[in-house]
Amino acid sequence: MAAQDRLRTYRDKRDFERTHEPTGRPAEAGAGADGPHFVVQIHDARRMHFDFRLQVDDVLRSWAIPKGPSSDPGDKRLAVPTEDHPLEYEDFEGVIPEGEYGGGTVIVWDQGTYEPLSHDRRGRPVEFAESLEDGHATFRLHGSKLHGEYALTRFRGGEDEEESWLLVRKGPAGSAGHGSPDPRRARSVRTGRTLSQVARGEE
Ligand code: MN
Repeated sequence: MAAQDRLRTYRDKRDFERTHEPTGRPAEAGAGADGPHFVVQIHDARRMHFDFRLQVDDVLRSWAIPKGPSSDPGDKRLAVPTEDHPLEYEDFEGVIPEGEYGGGTVIVWDQGTYEPLSHDRRGRPVEFAESLEDGHATFRLHGSKLHGEYALTRFRGGEDEEESWLLVRKGPAGSAGHGSPDPRRARSVRTGRTLSQVARGEE
């Protein structure tokens, strides 16, 4: 599906006269030379949450993760799919006006690239997009903060029903992680600012 179609839900939810979020210009399909990108944003909306986005072809596939990704393999983090976002959303940091869709402050907590690792049950590599359709995708993150192998697994929903997924760090049980960041203390990987500094418009 063309990115412009895939972004229809994204556009329909937003009034670009009011929010400074990207409108989603036509983008070139496919990963950059350095591999497909990922971004984790912290979004202080009606409910604080993390937005986890993976570049798949020419959009960012997106999940809202209330507690945020954990580096501890013992933590299973609920991840609720949200609409595909345009690729340039990976750089969005700022304030979405109150009353608008997703109104609140956003910081880019982490960004980088990922290696798709998805395999089928027989251990053969499969297309990453296909593995997401099938509800189980594995990948290795190369971010500034997040490193290592993670899995996204759908455990509820499908055709009509609202989907729920889990994001889990892969690795030996009991291996030491740092858990999740405290969203109110966490700093932008782009500007070093906290949510409250961005909300106040500090440079
Ligand atoms: Mn959000």
